[in-house]
Amino acid sequence: MFCEVLTGRRPGHLVVDEPGVAAFLDARPVFKGHVLVVPRQHAATLAEVTDGQAADLFGAARRVALALERALPCDGAFVAVNNRVSQSVAHVHVHVVPRRFKDGLRGFFWPRQRYDSDAEAADYAERVRAALAASALL
Ligand SMILES: [Zn+2]
Repeated sequence: MFCEVLTGRRPGHLVVDEPGVAAFLDARPVFKGHVLVVPRQHAATLAEVTDGQAADLFGAARRVALALERALPCDGAFVAVNNRVSQSVAHVHVHVVPRRFKDGLRGFFWPRQRYDSDAEAADYAERVRAALAASALL
């Protein structure tokens, strides 16, 4: 499924597009601006990812987490991988969820939202891309 997003066969809002790693908006975000960071080469679980690929993956996740603070009204981020258990798509993905202090989330049963429109999702993606580009200049 994520391979289809990466090849354009399934719609998605990319925010990172690099040779080894890509990132795009989760279509059903916990909070708007929720990004999934994935290895470009298909890997179902962490067992199929090399240390080098993991470094690329988490390097991108780190940059996205920092970019969200510039792009959105957010105080920080939740960064996590569900490996096999609770993993809804069999392609390794790092969740980067924008968080606010007192945003009400507790535990791991998190309600999902929907973007009001594809245009709204495109706007969130553009803000994150712009923040990533700005931080690359630092
Ligand atoms: Zn895949």
